[in-house]
Amino acid sequence: MIGPIFGTVVRMRVSTGKATQSDGRMFTVVVEGFGVGLQRRAERRLTVPFGQLQRLMQTIALQGGQIRAINAEELPAGSATQAPSTDAGSEAPAASTTPARKAPVSHADVPVNLYKPKDPFIGTVIGNYSLLTEGAIGRVNHITFDLSEGNLHYVEGQSIGIIPDGEDANGKPHKLRLYSIASTRHGDNCEGGTVSLCVRQLQYEKDGSIINGVCSTFLCDIEPGAKVKITGPVGKEMLLPADEEANVIMLATGTGIAPMRAYLRRMFEPTERAKNPDYQFRGKAWLIMGVPKTPNLLYEDDLQRYLAEFPENFRYTKAISREEQNPSGGRMYIQDRVTEHADEIFSLIEDPKTHVYMCGLRGMEPGIDEAMTAAAAAKDLNWSELRPQLKKADRWHVETY
Ligand SMILES: Cc1cc2nc3c(=O)[nH]c(=O)nc-3n(C[C@H](O)[C@H](O)[C@H](O)COP(=O)(O)OP(=O)(O)OC[C@H]3O[C@@H](n4cnc5c(N)ncnc54)[C@H](O)[C@@H]3O)c2cc1C
Repeated sequence: MIGPIFGTVVRMRVSTGKATQSDGRMFTVVVEGFGVGLQRRAERRLTVPFGQLQRLMQTIALQGGQIRAINAEELPAGSATQAPSTDAGSEAPAASTTPARKAPVSHADVPVNLYKPKDPFIGTVIGNYSLLTEGAIGRVNHITFDLSEGNLHYVEGQSIGIIPDGEDANGKPHKLRLYSIASTRHGDNCEGGTVSLCVRQLQYEKDGSIINGVCSTFLCDIEPGAKVKITGPVGKEMLLPADEEANVIMLATGTGIAPMRAYLRRMFEPTERAKNPDYQFRGKAWLIMGVPKTPNLLYEDDLQRYLAEFPENFRYTKAISREEQNPSGGRMYIQDRVTEHADEIFSLIEDPKTHVYMCGLRGMEPGIDEAMTAAAAAKDLNWSELRPQLKKADRWHVETY
């Protein structure tokens, strides 16, 4: 529980060079006019252990921020406050791993495996169109299925399985492939009873021939009216926190935007907001998106609309690898954007309301990890220690494939 203790800073003597009173509690500083860009206009809450409070306050003062309140986490009755005494001046601020204030979606309430491969739901295709524009590389389609005649329902951040028609090389039915759901629980029409996917056709060259992925080609070619075997939903890794004031950093490459599209619709799409009186998003949502070329940008019109309508809440940064250069003259990948904005990303991560989501091809992980390691080191933090803490606090969410 958090109790306001505005003004107790002086009593705790954190204004002296070295903290003499040990305290194991976490402290949330409410500050205005602190941070970079739009952050300066918003009220922010930064949570740190006692040993780092003084340093944080000094940083805020140096950057002209105004502290509005300091809230201390209350300790259970009878518990000791004697954490080892820390030298506040020698410790770098670490990201707090306190869980977000409002409980995330209750994992127990999230539907899973309503339909299994042995008895899949049969959905009907009601839409299938290309998301790419002229000059794009490859094929990426938005495909919508009607679910109205069954009990297949889901929440944002889950996936469904698709069992493509036909048989494999051994004459056995094809196995299912998972796809991240790109729609909100209300579907693209906001009336429920549909699910949408964002599918890239897998194509690669082998021994001089072009090989098409079985399921992704099946889906990209599918016609409205076709019946498709669907399983699931599955997945609790990418659930969106229920906190309307959470900050959500989204790192996506290609079709990794699918779950992010669902989150952003839930946050900003007017018909969705009207549907969700309990979820009127007021936090910061920052999408950092990597694609090879501008025509490969996905859902761009919607994202531009959210930017225009919610400039205080939505930020959108692109890394277009074959068109932009990173500072070393190489291709601009998403990890280069992470490095470029490392300070702001880490400032956000220091806020316990911040969640980070990563989705896309598995190959993106090492680059992001490297960028986060360097960014953390610049703040005297150790990313390999911090990441598991964030994961444990349910604030670091990864789904790569
Ligand atoms: C949780 C999760 C979510 C996913 N979400 C999405 C999504 O939203 N959108 C999306 O498009 N995909 C998504 N995928 C990937 C999807 O499940 C399939 O793996 C993908 O569509 C390819 O399936 P396929 O049947 O077309 O290919 P397959 O016919 O199964 O071929 C894949 C196989 O081809 C081989 N192969 C692949 N590339 C090469 C290469 N360059 N050289 C040689 N061999 C190669 C590999 O053996 C690989 O296993 C997701 C996967 C997971 C696990």
